[in-house]
Amino acid sequence: MDKIDFEKYITEMPKPNMESTTSTVEDFNTEDIWKIVSENLKMILDRVEYNSWFSDTYLEDIRNGVATLSCSSEFKRGTILRDYSKFLQSCLTRATGQNLQLEILIKSSGIKRKDTQDRYEFVSTPQQSSVTLFSGIESDSKKYKQALSSARLNPKYTFDNFIVGPNSRLAEAVAQAVVHDINNNNLTKSYNPVFYYGSTGVGKTHLMQAIGNEVIKKDPEKKVVYVSIEQFLNEMIEAIRTRKNEDFRSKYREVDLLIIDDIQFVEDYPKTQEELFHTFNTLYQANKQIILASDRPPREIKNITDRLRSRFEGGMVADIQIPDYETRVAILKQSLLDKNATVPDMYLELIAKNIENSVRELEGALNKVITLSKLGEVPTYEEVARILQLDIESKRNKVTPLKVLDVTSSVFDISVRYIKSKRRMAHISLARQVVMYILRTDLELPLETVAKEVNRTDHTTVLHACKQIEQKMKQDSRLAEKVELCRKKIFF
Ligand code: ADP
Ligand code: MG
Repeated sequence: MDKIDFEKYITEMPKPNMESTTSTVEDFNTEDIWKIVSENLKMILDRVEYNSWFSDTYLEDIRNGVATLSCSSEFKRGTILRDYSKFLQSCLTRATGQNLQLEILIKSSGIKRKDTQDRYEFVSTPQQSSVTLFSGIESDSKKYKQALSSARLNPKYTFDNFIVGPNSRLAEAVAQAVVHDINNNNLTKSYNPVFYYGSTGVGKTHLMQAIGNEVIKKDPEKKVVYVSIEQFLNEMIEAIRTRKNEDFRSKYREVDLLIIDDIQFVEDYPKTQEELFHTFNTLYQANKQIILASDRPPREIKNITDRLRSRFEGGMVADIQIPDYETRVAILKQSLLDKNATVPDMYLELIAKNIENSVRELEGALNKVITLSKLGEVPTYEEVARILQLDIESKRNKVTPLKVLDVTSSVFDISVRYIKSKRRMAHISLARQVVMYILRTDLELPLETVAKEVNRTDHTTVLHACKQIEQKMKQDSRLAEKVELCRKKIFF
């Protein structure tokens, strides 16, 4: 049963405009928002606690800055307001982008929303997380799977499918060293903590999870925990609230490898930093490996104490940059392999050329093209460009006549000098006519300008060339392909 991908949901969810104060009825999907909030609750509450207070609690409405929940009794209402309202509010803020007041109605009959409940059942209870002990009779593969799920690792993120480019070479080397070093219990670990940083979608989570997966693959008895900083802090706050600090600390003390993602959000929890610092120290002194990821370097994280910052900086700080073009193409090819799908290279190149900043977006675009390919024939270049929402018009405006000359020259293998010359040999004339045709029809340049680009004075030459090429392309598919190739190289 699929749990919703919380991280993905949060990043992809449209963020409402927080400045707008005029709207009264926001078009929030309350059901979706409640799913997110419930997921958050399930992360920090145990099953009994969750079922006691939230199994028949729903989000009824969000309006005028008030989120209205419903539950089934006055007793529940009181408990939720007393013990959980702060946390609920922060989850709601995160999910909606708005600061909301909380109101709770009592609906005695209890509304049945079976579909939602069925889809979002518990997958595992938080207590199982890190310290599951294995009985000797379990098979290795079962152990491995169980270890992965209790570590909260996604098996799809491995070293095998992580493409290393110049942008991530150091980060990957550090990752390999960490795997190698994990059994080194007596000597100090080489890099501890490891602090990865890089903008969103560049592969931080993938790489950290690959480390966790590899460590467990080598030894399923190793205790690995992957958590977001928010999960970690939520657990910590809950432990403090229920006076189970010691349980919390000893749970994390037993871990061999602790991976904390999106550590930049520690900014939002200034009061709990002290405790976080101590947890770090405990682990560090016990020679346990810690890996952290953030969207910015430690010095740019606001609201943190110098002690915590220097802890972050005290091991290995490695960045992951945006991948270059070649790496992006390689990542797309790897992604196709993983998905067992095929997409022509030229479309991979088109995607890689036009989406530069995030591998996540790169993969999103690839998925769209795969979907389109599944619908029928191979999509056309223009269609793919449209899917990718490429601004073809503005690209067109940026293309210079020189680019048209260069590309046509290379596709037709005739030097620009010859194209601009008076020579009338058929293959040279043809290339020249193609240049004129593209300058006129695609760049929509004035006739005189087109003529000038190929050293001609008479604009009727241009009109003639355009007519000729149009006609020839209808009769000669190889010529049509060549012209199409020129266009691709020029415009995409
Ligand atoms: P971040 O945590 O930095 O925001 P992710 O690790 O979530 O980014 O990466 C986003 C997506 O891009 C994931 O699906 C991931 O598998 C993929 N990805 C990122 N970098 C690479 C890479 N170098 N090789 C293969 N896939 C990658
Ligand atoms: Mg991430």
